[in-house]
Amino acid sequence: MRDGRNDTEGTGRHGERAEGERAFIADNMLGRLAGWLRIFGCDTLYVKSGDDGDIARISESEKRIVLTRDKQLVKRRGINAYYVDDIRPEEQLRLVVHRFNLRFEEERMRCSQCNGTLHIKKREDVSSIVPDGVLERNESFYMCSSCGRVYWKGSHWKRIREVVEKALSD
Ligand SMILES: [Zn+2]
Repeated sequence: MRDGRNDTEGTGRHGERAEGERAFIADNMLGRLAGWLRIFGCDTLYVKSGDDGDIARISESEKRIVLTRDKQLVKRRGINAYYVDDIRPEEQLRLVVHRFNLRFEEERMRCSQCNGTLHIKKREDVSSIVPDGVLERNESFYMCSSCGRVYWKGSHWKRIREVVEKALSD
C-alpha cells in the first residue's frame, strides 16, 4: 500500500510520471503482456474485469494508453488505444515496444504482479524473507514497494533477458 513517500509510487498517477514516460492500461485479454511491460519498466495497470467504460475513464483520468485485443474498444470515440495484433504475449510485447519506442532500463523494472516500483535491497535487508540458499548466491535483491515481494536474478533472469532482447529486436 502507498505510504505517501516519494519512493512509493506503485500506481503511478500521471502527476508523478517522468516527462514523456508512457503509461498503459491493459484489458482482460492481456494479463501476461501487462506483466512483461512492468518488467520492462512501464507503469501498466491490468483490468481483469470491468467494462469498456471503466477502461476509458481510467485511461483518460490517468493519461494511460489502452492496450486491447478488442477492435470495438479501439474505435471508441476519443479513446487513446492501441490494438495489439497478436495472441502471443512475447510478440505482443515486441509490438508495443516498437510502437511506443520503449527502452529497457533495468533500474526501472516494476513488480510483474502488482505494478509497484522495485527498490534495490542488500542481503541483510531481506535475510528474514529469502531462503538461505538464495541469500548465499545473490548479493542484491529488489523489493516491491507495494506488495513487498522480493525478486533476485535467479535462474529466471536469463529467460527475462531473452524475452527483453527479442522484444527490442526488429
Ligand atoms: Zn508488487
